[in-house]
Amino acid sequence: MTIHGWKDALGPEVEVDAVVVGAGPGGSAVSRVLARAGWDVLVLEDGPPASNFRPNYFHTARYHMQESGTMIAQGSVPLPVAAGRGIGGSSLVNSAICFRTPDPVLDEWSELLADDRYRPDAMRPLFDFMEDRIQVVPVTEDIAGENNMIVARGVAALGLQGGLLNRNTPGCVGCGICNFGCPSGGKFSVDRNLVQDGLEAGLRIQADCRVEQVLHEGGRAVGVVGRLHDTDTKEPVGRIRVKARRAVILSAGAIGTPRLLWFDGLAKQLGPVGDTLFLHPGSALLGRCDHKVHMWKGATQGAYVWSPDEPNVLPHTVSAPPEAFIALTGQVGHAAKRLLTEINYLCGLGVMVHDHGEGSVRAGSDGRAAIRYTWADEDVETLKRGMVLSARVLLAGGAKEVFATAHGATRHTDVESLAAELAPMPLSAFSLYSAHPMGTMMMGTDPDRFVLDSRARAHRMRSLYVADASIFPTSLGVNPQLTTMVMGTLIGQGILEDEG
Ligand SMILES: Cc1cc2nc3c(=O)[nH]c(=O)nc-3n(C[C@H](O)[C@H](O)[C@H](O)COP(=O)(O)OP(=O)(O)OC[C@H]3O[C@@H](n4cnc5c(N)ncnc54)[C@H](O)[C@@H]3O)c2cc1C
Ligand code: SF4
Repeated sequence: MTIHGWKDALGPEVEVDAVVVGAGPGGSAVSRVLARAGWDVLVLEDGPPASNFRPNYFHTARYHMQESGTMIAQGSVPLPVAAGRGIGGSSLVNSAICFRTPDPVLDEWSELLADDRYRPDAMRPLFDFMEDRIQVVPVTEDIAGENNMIVARGVAALGLQGGLLNRNTPGCVGCGICNFGCPSGGKFSVDRNLVQDGLEAGLRIQADCRVEQVLHEGGRAVGVVGRLHDTDTKEPVGRIRVKARRAVILSAGAIGTPRLLWFDGLAKQLGPVGDTLFLHPGSALLGRCDHKVHMWKGATQGAYVWSPDEPNVLPHTVSAPPEAFIALTGQVGHAAKRLLTEINYLCGLGVMVHDHGEGSVRAGSDGRAAIRYTWADEDVETLKRGMVLSARVLLAGGAKEVFATAHGATRHTDVESLAAELAPMPLSAFSLYSAHPMGTMMMGTDPDRFVLDSRARAHRMRSLYVADASIFPTSLGVNPQLTTMVMGTLIGQGILEDEG
């Protein structure tokens, strides 16, 4: 048995070549590389040993969302932050959208890190490999659903870039519930490919295990200590102590990795752990059509918009099932009642901002993340312009009127009156959301300003590495899962060179 839960836990003492904390895209990619090189690798994962999907938000939050889906960044305004949990991490519950890291971002990274491995030409083979391995395919019209097709038609009518998206969903049947976990196996989340490669090479996984401490001796990381818990009740049932002969790799995500290091107390020794949080925050713009849309049917978030006039927004179709819809809109009373009567006719775009805000992650004494995020003024303006762009697309694609998911928002049949309404609106009026935490363990060459070097190796502790979305040197501007997998692979190759 290579995947263990709390009932058949390893330990209490285990010795391996490398221990990896977290089985998301980053942890799966790095552990795959090390296991295939013949290393004895153990992954410790907080979530359950097997996926437990139901088309129900509260069930998903309980088993497959970090902190049961209740993480909120405080700061300018309260901002929900979503991150997944389990063998596959957030890829279990994400919308499967796959973008390569844009070339200008890679050029910037290779300059900032003085490292040619990040140049677009050098990274291209890794993206080619990863897209093939996780089976990235375009959404096709037969499974797109009307919500995505409205966006695709609007984009085409306006001559913008975008349309139906690429996703790692080779067997998608368009049921629209990717965010609850894929019931048909049509989504190729990393548990179905990168993790399988690792297991075939001898990788072991201990699930139901939350790592709370990094062990170190003489300035070198030598292992971790985790707390085992009951899958269902989450009550503690024991501990596991893992000694790592060659490397300790943290892949607990851009919230989870700094949360662990602050809870442990090691953060203070390592540098600015948890600073420079980026979130790709966003909100949604809805449209009402005269024909039935059923926005919850079709490939989840299967279409997008990109305009050179607004390079810092990336709107995607937003598709909420009816029970989650009212929470998305933030409406109450008569406005909420009206929306429910119209629900069959609504379409929508989620407006994601390539952000420049300032954020941080710390840990409370209970182990929960303490997240702060202050919006940059320019990002608030970008969000509003992104909503206007989205309105143009929905109106061109078939919507009869559009409205923002914001307190006090009214209906508009033209984008000029929408823009006029949005202009004075405070950020606090909008229903906001984020699911792309990044950058909290940013790589950089200066040990006084960055925790990690360009190989994602701690400047101030030998044999300690990070491989998850926290290592990005800047906000990305596109959905991060593919970049995280490719970076995890690159970091794994570096670990083999450094510690092999
Ligand atoms: C709802 C949602 C939709 C998204 N949609 C898309 C999309 O369509 N396309 C896209 O590119 N990106 C999307 N993303 C973002 C993308 O999934 C993430 O950027 C990516 O998964 C990050 O990978 P990671 O390895 O850094 O962290 P994660 O995927 O967050 O994995 C971290 C893992 O570590 C575990 N962990 C945390 N702390 C500990 C601990 N102390 N001990 C043990 N284990 C721990 C967690 O349980 C989790 O399994 C979405 C995310 C969400 C939540
Ligand atoms: S939309 Fe496609 S990939 Fe998503 S849950 Fe449904 S079948 Fe799976």
